[in-house]
This record gives sequence, structure tokens and C-alpha cells, in this order.
Amino acid sequence: MSATAPLLSSFPALPLLAALLGACVGSFLNVVAWRLPREESIVLPPSHCPHCGSRLRWSENVPVLGWLLLRARCGHCGAPIAIRYPLVELLCAGLWVAALLARPSAMGPQPQPWLLVAAGWLLLSWLIPLVLIDLDRLWLPEPLCRIGLVLGLAVTALIGFEQDAGVGRELLFHHLVASGVGLVGFEAVSALAQKAIGKPALGLGDAKLAALLGAWLGLTGLGLTVILAVFSGAVVGSIGRLSGRLGKHQPFPFGPFLAAGGAAVWLLGHDVWLAALGLVW
Ligand SMILES: [Zn+2]
Repeated sequence: MSATAPLLSSFPALPLLAALLGACVGSFLNVVAWRLPREESIVLPPSHCPHCGSRLRWSENVPVLGWLLLRARCGHCGAPIAIRYPLVELLCAGLWVAALLARPSAMGPQPQPWLLVAAGWLLLSWLIPLVLIDLDRLWLPEPLCRIGLVLGLAVTALIGFEQDAGVGRELLFHHLVASGVGLVGFEAVSALAQKAIGKPALGLGDAKLAALLGAWLGLTGLGLTVILAVFSGAVVGSIGRLSGRLGKHQPFPFGPFLAAGGAAVWLLGHDVWLAALGLVW
């Protein structure tokens, strides 16, 4: 049974609420992923069509439904609105519901269910703009990684010390080490790869994202995340190259694979993945 199961039995409407809130957060994260690389303010001005600048009515701003209502076009100038917007909103809604059932292993023996759910919402939401910006620009913004790392350590400390001081100290130390290992390990691999093939194989952003994930998932979690990311990255990369959608030497972002691996490890916990990978080998 997941640590969060008691929440669901006391609040049956929680999944619906999580889906609605998650969709709204997803809508905001779309804005973050669009504006942050352009160095625009995240709060002001309110949502507008990037093509003609006209403001969206409140009904057009409703996640997913607004897009359907507008039939994927701006109501003023008719510019197409990418399907990515409602997809991100749906993804975030799904992740928020999934976080209710998550069984993360990295937060001590008896984490407080509410704290665990809130932590999952924060982590999974935080990864979304990182994935979107890396897909768009092969770039993982440093401030997002840094703040996400600090939040990971803060959440670890909060959940740990809420159990008891010993658990708190142990978790915090362990996650700090994992964060450092993520950063240094990825930078070392990147430097080695650069020596071997003469060009950067991994961006330094990947090292920062690994450090962020270490802060949330600890060493075992980070190790599992990296294995999942390398496997899935290799599969997707091969399919991309074989199908011709990806040029022979065209770089593709690794951040989305790290983020997806980290999310999978958070949601299912270590044991499931250790067993699954044990079957593979
Ligand atoms: Zn427009």
C-alpha cells in the first residue's frame, strides 16, 4: 500500500481536485516554458496570443477546454495554437493524480502522506518546464535547476525531520551526497566523452538536472533514474536515427529522459524498478 493511500480513503474527491489543479498548473507551466527563455516576466502581462498580442478571455484560458473551444486557433487573428498546450495541461493533470498514488522510496520509513503528495506535485511540476525548454532549445536553464535542487533538499529536510531528527539528518546528508555525485559524475562523463569523440556529448545542463534529481531521489533513486534515462534515450535516439527524423550527428536533448526517469522513480519507488531491471539483466 502506498503511504498516501489513507488520504484517498478520507478524501474521495481528491483525484478530481488534483486533476483540475494539475491542469491549471500545467497551463501556467506552458507560459513559463514560453516566456522564461525569452526573458519575459512570468506573471505579466496576462495570457495573450503570441502572434497578435490580443488578450485571452477567461473562458479561452480554461485548460484544455479553452483550446477545444477555440478549435486550436486564436479567436482574433486565427493563428494556430499548438496542440502541445492542451497536451501539457493533460500531462500535468495526470501527474498530479499519479502523485496521489506515488510510493517514493527516498523520503524515509514513515513520511507524512500530505507532505509526500505536496512534494510529488512540486517535483513533477518543476520538471515540466525543464523538459519543454530542453526540447525547444537544447537548454536546461541554470536557475530552474539550482532552485529545484535547493527545493529538493528543503523538502527532504522537512519530510525527514518531521519523522525524527535522526531520519532528517541522515536523509539530508544522503541527498546532499547524491546531488554532488550527480553533478560531478555527469561532468566527468561529459569531459571523458568530449575527449573520446572530440565534441560535447552531454550538455552541462544535464549535470545540473542530475544534481537536482539527486537532491530529491537520493543515490539509489538517481542511479535508477540514470539507467532508465540512458535506456529510453538510446531507444528513442535509435528510432529517430533509423526513421530519418533525426540526422546522423544531430544532437537531441537528454534532459527529457532524465526528467521522465526521475518522475518514474518518484512515482513507483525503488523496489519496482530494481526488480524490473533485475529481470532485464
Ligand atoms: Zn492572435
